[in-house]
Amino acid sequence: MSGLFTEAHALAQDLADPLAHFRALFHIPQHQGRDQWYFCGNSLGLQPKSVRAALQQELDDWAAFGVEGHFHAKHPWMPYHTELRDLLAECVGAKPLEVVAMNSLTVNLHLLMVSFYRPTPTRPAIVIEQGAFPSDRYAVESQIRFHGHDPAECLIEVGADSDSGLVTEDALAQVMAEHGHRVALVLWPGVQYRTGQAFDLRAISVLGHTHGSKVGFDLAHAVGNLPLQLHASGADFAAWCSYKYLNAGPGAIAGAFVHERHATAALPRFNGWWGHRQDTRFKMGAEFQGSPGADGWQLSNPPILAMAPLRASLEIFQQAGIDALRRKSKALTGYLAALIAQELAGVIRNVTPADPERRGCQLSLQVLAGREAGRALFEHLMAEGVIGDWREPDVIRLSPTPLYNRFGDCYHAVRVIKQWADAR
Ligand SMILES: *Cc1c(COP(=O)(O)O)cnc(C)c1O
Repeated sequence: MSGLFTEAHALAQDLADPLAHFRALFHIPQHQGRDQWYFCGNSLGLQPKSVRAALQQELDDWAAFGVEGHFHAKHPWMPYHTELRDLLAECVGAKPLEVVAMNSLTVNLHLLMVSFYRPTPTRPAIVIEQGAFPSDRYAVESQIRFHGHDPAECLIEVGADSDSGLVTEDALAQVMAEHGHRVALVLWPGVQYRTGQAFDLRAISVLGHTHGSKVGFDLAHAVGNLPLQLHASGADFAAWCSYKYLNAGPGAIAGAFVHERHATAALPRFNGWWGHRQDTRFKMGAEFQGSPGADGWQLSNPPILAMAPLRASLEIFQQAGIDALRRKSKALTGYLAALIAQELAGVIRNVTPADPERRGCQLSLQVLAGREAGRALFEHLMAEGVIGDWREPDVIRLSPTPLYNRFGDCYHAVRVIKQWADAR
């Protein structure tokens, strides 16, 4: 066991890692002349080197073709979003018809709630987790108000079962048993942003549907992190951003999923011309005819300069394969968790579930000595080039990602924490 915490052990694992060469496809930010120990792919993924050429291609095609780039660009802009569709579908376990790259995450949550949050006087409520990401909470609250209801009555939050902040699916089931008849929508994370807890999407979909509710997922921290089976989960809809594990750049274009069973349903929706059937869109008719599937939710013609980095990034995911990435991710995060348990037992509490099936890359760490000590450790890590992030009130998040992190990074991070703890 104690052999785990040696540089030799970490380096041996890096040497045996079949995905090790993917790190060279990324720009690694520098700290005092050497690579940072970057654990922040859950917040902003690193830049794939191929992004520059992908962007340059679009700039060149714009320069060369002007408006004709819609048809003559290397990747013609008119059908551009369809080039992303298959890659995205593979990434989230959906059918190509079910996914689209568009807008940003909170925008997509709103657009999808327009269709899937249809409150009635007897069924007006939305269920979320207590401690949901603020933007999701703001979106849900404002949707409830928009429909003339009161969030005090119609926003139901499922609390954590313990002070760890983890929420069991049993707690959700209990809330649904009590309130389910009033619930129009369950909006749930795939992976909780503060604790790193991963949820069983299928179980939650089945639970919501059993009570007659719609079910949607925010996959901000799940996409590119866990292999997803969105179609099989049966969820009504999902949305995600692409700048975290998907490495598509700050504010990158987001994604949306709408289950196939809604592909041609006459759902209420906010329409725009890009959601119109592609074959007749340019007849510029007065009557809207929606594209089948997720495409129908598009409003505007897509931002090509924002789509190019996502395409470049998804091609890397396709090369590596999400299952191989997950295999490495379990080993990598498992190694970091084991080192923390073994070397820092009296210093740090890891609040992320120990079961690898209940977490992805991220570990959420609390310093046992309290918030101030936690803040001090966080500052120390940053000053040493070990880049994690801080989430109020007291969590340091470290997320080794399988595309560009090494076992040696995990070893180093624990060594830096140990040195800090020993010096106190
Ligand atoms: C990162 C994140 C967001 C961010 O929303 P944007 O619309 O992309 O700014 C929202 N919700 C969750 C759960 C997140 O993790």
